[in-house]
Amino acid sequence: MSSLDDVLSGRLAEIQQANLFRSLRPVDSPQQPHAIIGHHKVINFSSNDYLGLTNHPKVKEAATKAIQDFGAGSGASRLICGSLNPHHDLEKAIAQFKGTEGALTFSSGYGTAIGTITALLSKEDIIIIDKLVHASIVDASRMCGARLRVFAHNDMEDLREILQWCNRERTEKTHVLIVTESLFSMDGDFAPLAEIAVLKEKHNAWLMVDEAHATGLFGKHRRGLAEKFGLSGAVDIQMGTLGKAIGSAGGFIAGSKTLIDYLINRARSFIFSTAPAPSASAAAKAGLDIISSPEGEKLLRTLRERIEQFRSSTEASGGTKDSPIVPFILGDESRALAAAEQLFQQGIFAPAIRYPTVAKGTARLRITLSASHSEDDVGKVASALLKIRAGHPN
Ligand SMILES: *Cc1c(COP(=O)(O)O)cnc(C)c1O
Repeated sequence: MSSLDDVLSGRLAEIQQANLFRSLRPVDSPQQPHAIIGHHKVINFSSNDYLGLTNHPKVKEAATKAIQDFGAGSGASRLICGSLNPHHDLEKAIAQFKGTEGALTFSSGYGTAIGTITALLSKEDIIIIDKLVHASIVDASRMCGARLRVFAHNDMEDLREILQWCNRERTEKTHVLIVTESLFSMDGDFAPLAEIAVLKEKHNAWLMVDEAHATGLFGKHRRGLAEKFGLSGAVDIQMGTLGKAIGSAGGFIAGSKTLIDYLINRARSFIFSTAPAPSASAAAKAGLDIISSPEGEKLLRTLRERIEQFRSSTEASGGTKDSPIVPFILGDESRALAAAEQLFQQGIFAPAIRYPTVAKGTARLRITLSASHSEDDVGKVASALLKIRAGHPN
């Protein structure tokens, strides 16, 4: 038998040959538009910190105060003895922000999807997901044991056909759950939530929407795309993350009190994991408070201006108009890598996104904009991208 390292070296060589090898780049500065990565000063277009809250003084102060008041760690899982005030304060704030009866937080968005979906479904059930949903939802769908059906990205005819198939297959005991993102993380486009809501009603299914990238950015109260489209009531399970616009780390579910009580009893990634650090929860609450305030509205206006500037100066066609995520699809993995390297040489960090994050042959640069980018920052990335597109890199 070959040694572990021999086997793994062989596998790594294959990954390298396919231009899919990845390694970590140490960032020697805070995660902000002007960052120091591998000792190079760069303008950072890779972070999901859409409103610049990660380094907001009030968010940092809230985290610091929580460490002073509650310590660095939380000691145990929430059900054992780790359910600290900052966790409860944050969940109250999320429920109020989302307009739901309750909310439950998890240490990560990944763990939120895994814990929730595996708690809700089992092998008699059916789960239907969009082809492009996040890996956390794909993994949860496989783990829960339900029959898994995938509809082509945003293709409502395909979803309708799958739901009709479900109706033929299902028994009294079968539950059907549809899961989609609202703003898709690698393509920057919206799900047709209104049409999905109609289909879900008609075919008697449940609906879970992952608003990881939309929370804080859309709707009157900035709750997300479901609010923008007036569909909050149609979504049974609202998922979000605390590590993107909210500026901290973690994930959450918002919904009925019954749903939350059930997840506390059945979501294994919640039950069997140490509670989030109190500082992370306090920082997330401070981030939410800012989002809900006039300052949050102002930050969002700034973000919109940057998006508009970027899209009009690059004539970007990828993604929806209001999206802070703009993909530049280059296709070939080696082309995307070369483009990212060219940008890096010009002091711009926008990583190549490759398989398995996106499908093979759809490698891309993914530009994410933030309210904390200046007009000048956006101008620089736009002109560098235009040069790449014109095939005249320098
Ligand atoms: C980032 C993300 C997650 C995972 O959240 P983490 O807090 O980073 O674990 C889940 N779903 C989507 C759509 C995401 O973009």
